[in-house]
Formats: sequence, structure tokens, C-alpha cells
Amino acid sequence: MNDQKETTQAREENEAQKKKNGITRRQALKYIGVGTGIVLAGGAVGGYGYHRSLRLPSAEASRIKKVRFVIAGGSVGGLTVGARLLRAVPGADVTVIEPNENHHYQPGYTLVAAGVYSPEEVIFDQQSLMFPEMKWVKDAVKKFEPEKNRVITESGEVVNYDYLVVGLGVQMNPNSVENFTKALETPYAGNIYDLDKGIKYHELMKNFEGGRFVSTYPAGYVKCGGAPQKITWLSEDYWRTKGIREGVEVHFHTNRHTLFPPVPRVDEAVKPKIEARGIHNHYNQTLRAIDVSTRTAIFEEKTPEGSSREVRQKYDLIHPMPGFQTPKALRESDLTAEGIGGQLEVDRFTLQHKRFGNIFGIGDSAATGAPKTAATIRKQAPVVVANLLDAALGNQFSAKYDGTSGCPLLTRYGRCMMFEFDFEGNLVNERIYNSTKETRLWWHFKVHGLKRLYRHVLLNGYVNV
Ligand SMILES: Cc1cc2nc3c(=O)[nH]c(=O)nc-3n(C[C@H](O)[C@H](O)[C@H](O)COP(=O)(O)OP(=O)(O)OC[C@H]3O[C@@H](n4cnc5c(N)ncnc54)[C@H](O)[C@@H]3O)c2cc1C
Repeated sequence: MNDQKETTQAREENEAQKKKNGITRRQALKYIGVGTGIVLAGGAVGGYGYHRSLRLPSAEASRIKKVRFVIAGGSVGGLTVGARLLRAVPGADVTVIEPNENHHYQPGYTLVAAGVYSPEEVIFDQQSLMFPEMKWVKDAVKKFEPEKNRVITESGEVVNYDYLVVGLGVQMNPNSVENFTKALETPYAGNIYDLDKGIKYHELMKNFEGGRFVSTYPAGYVKCGGAPQKITWLSEDYWRTKGIREGVEVHFHTNRHTLFPPVPRVDEAVKPKIEARGIHNHYNQTLRAIDVSTRTAIFEEKTPEGSSREVRQKYDLIHPMPGFQTPKALRESDLTAEGIGGQLEVDRFTLQHKRFGNIFGIGDSAATGAPKTAATIRKQAPVVVANLLDAALGNQFSAKYDGTSGCPLLTRYGRCMMFEFDFEGNLVNERIYNSTKETRLWWHFKVHGLKRLYRHVLLNGYVNV
């Protein structure tokens, strides 16, 4: 009886409210439901439309299906190109040559070393990232034979192609710093470019009680040129929060003449902030050797006059960086040239090989002069696919890589500068990113958003020129 009375009263109140506001709660919920339905339906139609827009018309697609595409290296570059190709032509003949069964999300390595990600968070099962249509040769390329349009794998398998995409990445060259490997075996050194050594680095950083920390930046091309700075700055911030900062000297020795030369505006913005934190930056210095017994880093410093001198720095903890090189199969092949450090010789705009027209390059191993990052691949992959398809169909190239890349520059825990830039180092989309500001928003985007975009958008081939 009471329930009925309360229900009637509630209905009356609701009606009164309706007169006042012009809408009841039930109607409001109905409208929200209908509105959400429309948005979802619109999204689905839009998504389907976008999905269809990646496809090649059927007459061209049937010609492409007769073409054999081979991709050497099945990491972010190779897989993004392969996926984008299969979005354009479902059922295309795509073979990926990749020896590893696990794929590493390398942009997450810095966050593993900083203790933000667990190591498991950066490892994916390779098979789970590959389209079912992709043929997987689980082996490494031993030899490129471009005149014969084929590659030979380590186990001796011959893989013939009509078009080849090379995405072999770059690796640290331990021989470029004397005793680099030996130093990493001691309890005073770690390195974020290797997952295990990055895990070790986190332990060393966490347990550091004070003393001199030395971090270095090498000569030549560098994979993710922001990462050595990021780990230096995060470490400094970690020790500040831990309350031991006064007992730590932080030294960053870089081969370059300033902190972030590829983008002068970012350099100007970040440098005073870093200097104000009491970090000692040493410029024009290249790490040449490490004396493990005395814990001394030995640098070659270039003077403004062009001569060089030796500089020694003792350390209690070191993050040493050697130079980089491409895998042996590439650097010892006919696909490279003098003066480009064993990289694939490509036209930086079309990404086509300069001498072999049916070979294209993607990502770190290609000599484009662009930064070696996954953000670069996001912009390069659709260009490679568009031009591959044009070449295979006998068309003029329709796409050009404009040099755009991006960087999430982690300056401290909870703060990040996010920016995109072109070949000339000019900021791109500056107003969207608020590029020269450290913000919490971009930190969260880097930690929670970018990995999802990498996994579900990039590696799924949802990239457009
Ligand atoms: C510490 C760190 C931090 C980074 N931070 C960022 C970041 O914040 N943002 C960003 O965008 N990027 C970042 N990067 C860079 C990014 O990870 C690389 O640019 C990207 O992985 C390059 O992709 P790739 O496919 O060209 O080469 P890789 O990812 O290096 O892959 C090369 C592939 O080739 C395979 N391979 C090698 N030799 C052979 C062979 N002979 N035959 C067949 N396969 C072979 C390898 O097994 C590997 O799978 C970071 C990297 C590191 C290490």
C-alpha cells in the first residue's frame, strides 16, 4: 500500500519536474540511449567507410594478387607495411621473414627501466600480431641477392620475390666502445636498449644510494634519439623523490653540441629546465672506452678548433651508449652504399631503393635521415605501400614521405613534452601538441595510450598517407 503511494508520489513529482524542465528522467534516459545508438552506428558506418577506403579497386586488386611481396624483418616497420598491404588487397601474397617468436614493444623499454611498466607489458607473441594471410618464414635473412630477386635465409631457404621491403632495424654495436659488454656485466652499469639490461638498470637506479651517475649519448645514427636523455632525466627525478638527490651528481655526456639538436625549438625549451635541475651536460664528447677496474668512462672531446682531447669521468653508476649498426646481412650486402653506415640506400621521399627499383625500405634500417622511431614508421608505412602498389601496377608514384616524425620526451615522472617535426626540424601541429610544454596529459598518453595505438592501429595497418 505504502509502496503504491510512494510510486504515485514519485510519478507526480516527476510530472511536475517535467513541466518545469520539459523532460522526464525516463525520457532523458531514452534520449541518451538513442543518442548513443546514433553515435555508435555513425562510428560503425564511418569505421566501415574508412576500412573500405583503404582497399584498392577490384580490377587492380586482382592484378596485385599475382605479385609476390616479401618483407625482411617482421617488427613494427615490416608488420605495419604487411598489414596495410593486406588492407589494400585482402588475399595479397605477403611473406614475412622474421626469426623471433616474440615481438618487443621497444618504445616501452624506457618505462620498464623507470619501473612504470613490468617487462611482460612490452612482450607480444609474434604470431598474434600477424595477419592470418601472412606467410611467416621463421628464419633470418643471411644474404640478399637483388640481381636474382631473391634472399637466402640462415637455414638455406631461397625466398623469391617480385617486390622486397627491408625493415631490419638497427642494433647497438658493442665494439664501438671498448669494454662496453664487460662494463654491463658489473653491478654498476645498465642499459635500456636491451630489455634484460633495462630491468637490471631499474634495480640499480632504485637501490642507488648516492655518488656520481654518468649517462652518455653516442656518435652516428641512434635508435630513438630521445631515449638516453629520457632515462637520465627520469633517474634524476627518481632520486629527487627518493630524497637522495643532494648526494647524487648527474652527468650527461653527449656527442652532440646541444641537448636536442633535431628540433631547435624543443632544445631551447627543455635546456633551461634541465640545467635548473642541476644536471651537468657535457657536449661534443663521445664515449670511447670504459675502464671497468677503476670505474672510469673515457671520452674523446672535439674542441671548437677541430682537435680532440681525452676526458675521463669516474662513475658509481653508468648508463653507457655505444654506436649503432644495421644487421650483418644488410650492412654486408649490395643494398647499402659508402658513407651511410650500412643502412639501406633509399630515396628519402619515395622510400624506393636508389638502384634496385623493386626494393623499398621501412623504418630504422633505411637511410632517410629521419629519426629512428615507431612514430616515423607511422608516416612512412602508407607511403611505402602506396608506392609499392604503384610500382607493381606500372603507375607513377603517388606518395611522398615528408620527413615527419614524433617524440614523447619524458622529462620527469608525470611530465612529458609531445611534438612532431619535419626533416628540417620544424615543429608540426604545434598548437595541437602544445609542443614546448611539459604536461601531465602527454605523460598519461605515452603511458596508457601509445602502446594501444601501436598494437591496434599501427600493426593493424590502419595508417593513411
Ligand atoms: C629504449 C628505446 C626507446 C624507444 N622509444 C621510442 C618512443 O618513445 N617512440 C617511438 O616512436 N619509438 C621509440 N623507439 C624506437 C622504436 O622502437 C624503433 O624505431 C622501431 O622499433 C623500429 O622498427 P623497425 O621495424 O624498423 O626495426 P626493429 O623494431 O628494430 O625490428 C627489426 C626486426 O628485424 C628483425 N631482423 C633483424 N635481422 C634480421 C635478419 N637478418 N633477417 C630477418 N629479420 C631480421 C629483428 O628480429 C626485428 O624483429 C624506442 C626504442 C628503444 C630501444
